Amino acid sequence: MLYVVATPIGNLGDISQRALEVLKNCDVIAAEDTRHTQKLLMHFGIKKPLISYYEHNKTVRGPVLIEKLVNGENIALVSDAGTPGISDPGADLIKAATDAGLEVSMIPGPVAGITALVLSGLPTDKFVFEGFIGTDNKKKQEFADMIVSETRTVIIYEAPHRLVKTLEFLANYIGERKVAVCRELTKSHEEILRGTVASHIAHFSENEPRGEFVLVIEGADKKTLNEETVPTTAEDIFNKFNEIAESDKASGIRRKKNDIIKDVAAYFNLPKNKVYDMYEEVNQQTQGGL
Ligand code: SAM
Repeated sequence: MLYVVATPIGNLGDISQRALEVLKNCDVIAAEDTRHTQKLLMHFGIKKPLISYYEHNKTVRGPVLIEKLVNGENIALVSDAGTPGISDPGADLIKAATDAGLEVSMIPGPVAGITALVLSGLPTDKFVFEGFIGTDNKKKQEFADMIVSETRTVIIYEAPHRLVKTLEFLANYIGERKVAVCRELTKSHEEILRGTVASHIAHFSENEPRGEFVLVIEGADKKTLNEETVPTTAEDIFNKFNEIAESDKASGIRRKKNDIIKDVAAYFNLPKNKVYDMYEEVNQQTQGGL
């Protein structure tokens, strides 16, 4: 049997009774980082063989673990923190086990994204989990296209060294929407900063981001999205277009004019062709040497 075991995201007191029982009684523990998990096991006085299973060995190690499961061994799968399978390589082993018709059981526990969502104070009835936006330009663009009009609360993970860049990237698409920056959850330096992207950028330009972060972003306002009420001028359109084009450039994204028009249209909730015409109105004047 494969036991998917959630472990704490920072506070060791969050380990469950069942998690400890499974870790004590399984045959082997598959861990993302064996040294990291060893510390957890030592804290709870558990001695067990560990096998590493992480991003760069998962294709080789996966079949070895599946064979063990087929032979009747009990494997506990843990990640560095939180729930295996959520933004970590655990998902592949779980898929391989289910594909092979093997039994999988879950010992639920902490997830950073859900902890942040609940603490954010933003709507929890409908939400989207996006994990890490990453640095791939195409994926970033897909994310940008999505977030402009996404009405559900959006959860993303981010590394401290990329936090400000990501906030600057978001600034182009979410305007004044609320964002909760959740830092070091369940740890002694836990901090939830609630504000707008602009206020967070100001804060983190004076306070270097340290620790682990989850961002929880308010969804776009359905009412505003459905109404064509924004009193937008051609200059607003032209300026927003240039703002996004500049941000794309800074992030190394190269896009066609029409893709940016699409974002501007979603941002102001106006039809694309209308936005295109308004953009061209100012663009041609500008190019005409005004
Ligand atoms: N499997 C984990 C889970 O259940 O949430 C997530 C693993 S992912 C590789 C690691 C990311 O989760 C971190 O970069 C950070 O964005 C987020 N994270 C994990 N622990 C956190 C914590 N204590 N506070 C804030 N964010 C955390």
